[in-house]
Amino acid sequence: MGRITLEGVAKRFGDVEVIPPLNLDIEDGEFVVFVGPSGCGKSTLLRLIAGLEDVSDGRILIDGSDATPLSPARRGLAMVFQSYALYPHMSVRKNIAFPMRMAGIDETEQKRRIDNAAKALNLTDYLDRRPGQLSGGQRQRVAIGRAIVREPSAFLFDEPLSNLDAALRVGMRLEISELHNRLKTTMIYVTHDQVEAMTMADKIVVLHAGRIEQVGSPLELYRNPRNVFVAGFIGSPR
Ligand code: ADP
Ligand code: MG
Repeated sequence: MGRITLEGVAKRFGDVEVIPPLNLDIEDGEFVVFVGPSGCGKSTLLRLIAGLEDVSDGRILIDGSDATPLSPARRGLAMVFQSYALYPHMSVRKNIAFPMRMAGIDETEQKRRIDNAAKALNLTDYLDRRPGQLSGGQRQRVAIGRAIVREPSAFLFDEPLSNLDAALRVGMRLEISELHNRLKTTMIYVTHDQVEAMTMADKIVVLHAGRIEQVGSPLELYRNPRNVFVAGFIGSPR
């Protein structure tokens, strides 16, 4: 299960209101993309959902129960960071096992989940290598593997492909979409890249200065942008 509901969620840093109160419903199994220009509050919103930042106002419900007071570890969500967040001195296997060791999952179960994740991500032959011996795309797959083994109710991605080159980005986009088709787990994906948003999303949330400008499918936003900002942002060539 991975239904996430934001009710009047707001965030202030000191006197600055970065996210004015907003409401948002994310259905179980949806691939939702938060898109908007740099500085519009995408990462902050994702970090609020993850529990890495406290809300200033409002509530976050996960599968109908109030998750606002819960620590990140107890929300059952997994954040996928950029690949450079891997431990360079640990093998791929140990990197992937790390969150399970922290959660006290027994070794047999750890092995089962690592084998499944490695198969899903084409990493079976690379489990004994270190991150430094992998390509950028492989490193990003390890970062995703580390999230998969936690069997989260939702995956949270913050611009996971932004430090990959353009060709690799296209391939990884497809891989993440395939993974979503296979797992059918809720995914929230943050990007400033309109093409990523249009090609990956079931539902796009367009953000501008912390406000939701419009929510809809790629086709809905393309055909019926609510205002000039959405039209310019979704329609403009890169
Ligand atoms: P995005 O991910 O869309 O680029 P962010 O969520 O990182 O945007 O930032 C949104 C706004 O919040 C920016 O103006 C940023 O400077 C501000 N901000 C983010 N984190 C902090 C913080 N810890 N303290 C103060 N301001 C912050
Ligand atoms: Mg950001």
